[in-house]
Amino acid sequence: MPEGPSVKRFQLHCSPFVGQTVTKVGGQTRQINPDDLKSLTLLDTQVHGKNLFLAFGPIQEVAPCSESSSPGPSSCQPSVPGMAISEDNSFPLRMEENAHHLLEEPEVNDLPLLTDNATEQPREWLRFHFGLYGSIRANEFARASKANKRGDWRDPIPRLILHFDGRGFLVFYNCRIHRCSCPTAQPATDILNPEFDREQALEALRKATPVCTTLLDQSHFSGLGNVIKNEVLYLAKIHPLSLGSLLPPSGLKSLLDHALQFSSEWLNSQLQGRGLRPQIYGKDRCPAGHEVMKDTFGPVDGLKRLTWWCPQCQLAVLPEESHDN
Ligand SMILES: [Zn+2]
Repeated sequence: MPEGPSVKRFQLHCSPFVGQTVTKVGGQTRQINPDDLKSLTLLDTQVHGKNLFLAFGPIQEVAPCSESSSPGPSSCQPSVPGMAISEDNSFPLRMEENAHHLLEEPEVNDLPLLTDNATEQPREWLRFHFGLYGSIRANEFARASKANKRGDWRDPIPRLILHFDGRGFLVFYNCRIHRCSCPTAQPATDILNPEFDREQALEALRKATPVCTTLLDQSHFSGLGNVIKNEVLYLAKIHPLSLGSLLPPSGLKSLLDHALQFSSEWLNSQLQGRGLRPQIYGKDRCPAGHEVMKDTFGPVDGLKRLTWWCPQCQLAVLPEESHDN
């Protein structure tokens, strides 16, 4: 599924539509009723971890992005490092205490998008969580890039299409859409947020858990996905199954540095329209020419993910080699 840097790019497709009103809807989602969005204005866009949040409300509510910022859609810029961001990095609505809360939020299918008293609850948020082939297109539809197994060239089916009064449109593919009262923001664990807490992250990595599992734990590394995991373990020369508790502090620090640097570089290349050139993810050989191993690793009772590593560049740390005490 798209990782933090990719979802930030999706957000950039949406940002130009802030302040515009939905005139026509389409798409095959059954998680919300797209008709509820008609005549509402896109008020804000945010990304937290791997989730995109869009706020909709009545047109007169194009209003402050946060209490401290000046009114108008121009104040609602995406929170991308190096790009416009409010001084205090504040979020327009209250933060949830736990990032997991939103993930576990039950679907509410039949509620109108706005309450009767719009002045009390001027905006409603939609959370988009993207699947493996999830994406957003602006002013164009995705086309089939290859035939399926039956030889059909069938274009991907949009989950949601929003036409705006500025004549442009957004198309959402392969995503789950949920209503929520406000975005869940945990800047301290968001790998693309300047407020990311390094100490907290190092503490998580130090656990007696395979580092490849800890890296994918969204409560510690929100926005970090399988591509980043594989690449940074290779860059830090750490075997994916190494227990964090057995790695030297310098190794953990190096892993964290690589994770943050790789994520931010990936984001920058996304913003410049450049793709990612993985060194190990999906590769047969590492850049040094060694044969790459591939297996599925994950928690005993959790999701297992494909993992690539070089047995020569990423040596396993055995307990007797431990530098920890
Ligand atoms: Zn190698």
